[in-house]
Amino acid sequence: MPLHVENCVCPLCESTHVYEKNYSFHPYRVVQCRDCQLWYLNPRLSEKDMLSQYSDDAYFEGSDGINEGYSDYSEQEKSLRPTFSHFLSLLNRQQLTGGDLLEVGCGYGYLLDEAKPYFNQRVGTDFSLGAVNKASLYADEIFHGGVNEIPQGKTFDCIISVEVIEHIYDPKTFVEDLYKRLKPGGYLILATPDMGSFWRKGMQKRWPSFKLPEHVTYYDDETLRKLYKDCGFEDIQNLPFPHAFPLSVFFEKLKLDFLPCPKINIWFPHVVLGMSARRPYE
Ligand SMILES: [Zn+2]
Repeated sequence: MPLHVENCVCPLCESTHVYEKNYSFHPYRVVQCRDCQLWYLNPRLSEKDMLSQYSDDAYFEGSDGINEGYSDYSEQEKSLRPTFSHFLSLLNRQQLTGGDLLEVGCGYGYLLDEAKPYFNQRVGTDFSLGAVNKASLYADEIFHGGVNEIPQGKTFDCIISVEVIEHIYDPKTFVEDLYKRLKPGGYLILATPDMGSFWRKGMQKRWPSFKLPEHVTYYDDETLRKLYKDCGFEDIQNLPFPHAFPLSVFFEKLKLDFLPCPKINIWFPHVVLGMSARRPYE
């Protein structure tokens, strides 16, 4: 079946004005909005075609975003767990943990498992049935699909969504839906590849987070803040999110994989932009 590629307006402000400078990845293009500065994919794959790929379990067994180069998502466990554990201990120090947690786009559930010491209840959602089956080992409850699959009226003290927002075609509706699922005073924590990082500026088109066609929006500090503000959040704060990668990934990339590789992680700062914001008290 041929895939459908479409043109779109800016997903954050609906403007059609873009700067001349862009990144071309035929047939796709990453452009920057002149009005709100968001970078986004235009043209892009239609959302219907994209969603059908996510529901295919093979998606998770392939590569994903900045973790490209892994042959298997489960293989990433050894670097994802320390990455999430480090991030959660930071959230704990910032007093953002406690109560009931929802993770949107939980994958195989490693974050939910690492979150056990910090929350009373841990709930997750994911579009992949294979991921949902694995994640249910690690959580109190897992729902297959998006946040609307969770029974109406169920709300959370904290919602975390790591490396999901860049896949979302209508980010305002997504964040507004999460806002409604927070208790007053609850926190939404988003983490996404950092378009404003020196990694992107230095690597340009070779930046691994230009993951097409699935990454349809690219945020920096300014545009992620705007998204939160537009959806009614307050107390918006940056959160450092150092990311671990196994040394073997670099051996593979440098074609050194014939050499014995020590099983260690290397930590990278500023790959991911983390941000928290509070739903106002009523
Ligand atoms: Zn815009």
